Amino acid sequence: MYREHTREVKIGDRVIGGGNPVLIQSMTNTRTEDVEATVAQILRLEEAGCDIIRSTVPNMEAAKAIREIKKRIHIPLVADIHFDNKMAIAAMENGADKIRINPGNIGGKENVAAVVSVAKERNIPIRVGVNSGSLERQLVEKYGGVTAEGIVESALDKVKMIEDLDYNNLVISIKSSDVLMCIKAHEILAQKTDYPLHVGITEAGTLWSGNIKSSIGLGIILYEGIGDTIRVSLTGDPVEEVRTAKLLLRTLGLRKGGIEVVSCPTCGRTKIDLIGLANQVEAMVADIPLDGVKVAVMGCAVNGPGEAREADIGIAGGVGEGLLIKKGEIIRKVPEEELLSVLRDELLHWEA
Ligand code: SF4
Repeated sequence: MYREHTREVKIGDRVIGGGNPVLIQSMTNTRTEDVEATVAQILRLEEAGCDIIRSTVPNMEAAKAIREIKKRIHIPLVADIHFDNKMAIAAMENGADKIRINPGNIGGKENVAAVVSVAKERNIPIRVGVNSGSLERQLVEKYGGVTAEGIVESALDKVKMIEDLDYNNLVISIKSSDVLMCIKAHEILAQKTDYPLHVGITEAGTLWSGNIKSSIGLGIILYEGIGDTIRVSLTGDPVEEVRTAKLLLRTLGLRKGGIEVVSCPTCGRTKIDLIGLANQVEAMVADIPLDGVKVAVMGCAVNGPGEAREADIGIAGGVGEGLLIKKGEIIRKVPEEELLSVLRDELLHWEA
């Protein structure tokens, strides 16, 4: 089921599914009960472009903290629950906009029913999450190991468990750190359900490996038209997850906005500190609220001007200076140490 045809699900004031824009999620890594730290991190994530935030709720203090956190943030909050259905109920009573549970690990049908009953009362969506790492033994045996088919069957079993309780305000997530298995599982699942899907490559790794694995996995899944919300999972500052997710969506044409920076790989012709400059430019443009502007940072006057002409504005490095190129025209020469500030100034006064 491609994203145009999934069911719509309302999470706080956001709507996912049914062809709505793919939303970016992240997860706090503070102790949720530390309200100050959690709110501060969520506000940073909001500023970076996070649409929905998830926080773990491992104890009653965390469940109660949700009430205070919610007063001070501006995006929907998802409570992540494992093992204890009382936490799921308390999280909903304290204002969680959605809960994420694995119905297989919160203590049997009665406990699931108690959670569903509160969710139903408050019309709170439930994300049914299964992970390849916790696939049931009978499914591992049935499929001869942990497989995409097994993960999908496990997820649909859990969904059925909730549907049997007469509730269908659901989102499904299936995760695996095996990128190819994850892709295959999403392809199978999308054929079998029209619930919106939250997509992520779990335990993807550090900034370097996590970005690569997530870009391949999420990139292919999203390109196939599957996925209504995404999380890039990284071992690091969650703000990096949001930055990567935004670039991923923009690269796939699923999100507009922002300044795109292109830069050359440098070579023996480069005579300025282009690597340093490109990194500075990328950081500098992050807080400039322009949409769809392309900035080129090129190392030399051989290929630089040509490439920079393709962009809206660009720099082509020389010796201790650079050419400033705007909308295809060379505007002037700028000393190397002033290139960044001149470029910033141009962008701050940009007229389309
Ligand atoms: Fe080398 Fe110039 Fe191409 Fe950069 S733009 S890689 S410096 S030839």
